[in-house]
Amino acid sequence: MITGSPSAEKTNKLKSKLKELENVTLNIAVTGTTGAGKSSFVNALRGLRNDDGRAAPTGTIETTMKPNMYLHPFMPNVKIWDLPGIGSPKFKAKKYLKDVKFNTYDFFLIVTSERFRENDIELATAIQKSNKLFYFIRTKIDNDVRAESQNKNFDEQTLLNNIREDCKSNLLKVGVPKIFLVSSFQLEKYDFQKLINTLEDELPENKRFALIQSLPIYSLEALAKKKKYFKKMIWLNAFAAGVGAMPPLPGLSVACDYGIMKNFFQQVSTSYGLSNAALEVLSERVNKPVEQLKSVMTSRFKDGVTDKVVLNMLSNPVIAVAKTLGTVMALLPGGALPAGGAAIISVHHLLNKGLNEMTEDTKKVLAASQLA
Ligand code: GDP
Repeated sequence: MITGSPSAEKTNKLKSKLKELENVTLNIAVTGTTGAGKSSFVNALRGLRNDDGRAAPTGTIETTMKPNMYLHPFMPNVKIWDLPGIGSPKFKAKKYLKDVKFNTYDFFLIVTSERFRENDIELATAIQKSNKLFYFIRTKIDNDVRAESQNKNFDEQTLLNNIREDCKSNLLKVGVPKIFLVSSFQLEKYDFQKLINTLEDELPENKRFALIQSLPIYSLEALAKKKKYFKKMIWLNAFAAGVGAMPPLPGLSVACDYGIMKNFFQQVSTSYGLSNAALEVLSERVNKPVEQLKSVMTSRFKDGVTDKVVLNMLSNPVIAVAKTLGTVMALLPGGALPAGGAAIISVHHLLNKGLNEMTEDTKKVLAASQLA
């Protein structure tokens, strides 16, 4: 609890909590037979096009039984594993899980582009026994839709329901299977968002945050979800930056650890896909020049999250809104304002402001990318 005089111990505790959240690892396993669309899905989760230099190779025949690890392009603590297909029906699922070191993974995505087969069921049952989370992914839905749309009485929802029911009927042995219909080339369509919402419900809280932070930006809904998580993080960052703060540096109106603010903004920028590196990846994905995507950004962060931008925010008098003050007071035992209280409120205000500005920039970039 943060009351009383500023204490280095409290500040350190808050800082290490932040570091801990930043360093949460997430290991996602994607498995299925060759050709099922595993590699493409791995690439989609990493926000990469199949022909990006960093992408998992697609359309190739599997030659090894070893899991391939792909790092998230900007979050090294998020790893996506392309696991070899389970192989012949005789393959023992239990041995397979042992071979791929199943304990490494936070959850499994079992991928197929056709019907789920005996192997998939065996695998799911073995995963279930090890108390791990698993989800069924039916890929290449865009192909099904395209093919069926030629028919006279075509109705997309009916088609999707039929595919879902057909998948379910193959998975009766698994109990109530969680099935998601996706296109790796159009995450904004079909069930991808539903998959994320389900994972959000089922993953432990710290893993949930890592997942949402790491997702590529593919729609306004995805952006809103990210924003919700960052908003939750603002208090912790504001406390860590403001508690026990020394008198302001000359020229600054707020005493705080501005490195924490900068770090927060950098995390948002990366997760929102606004960093230079992320914009390059997006540019590849949506086939638009980086300059064009950058040119629509208008916020103070349009040229990146720099010391200068953050210090500049701190050099203007910060009007800590009365409402914010009330919120802080309500959170504290006996309504006492902690040491560094004014700084905390100011930093909270600035972090919120910066987050809103970056959200607006991202909306513009999404529009320029024709993703929203
Ligand atoms: P893997 O062998 O399971 O890793 O499958 P790949 O990702 O290499 O995909 C096999 C082929 O299917 C490639 O030609 C991909 O371009 C294609 N493919 C994969 N996912 C999709 C998808 O969601 N939609 C469409 N239309 N094609 C896909």
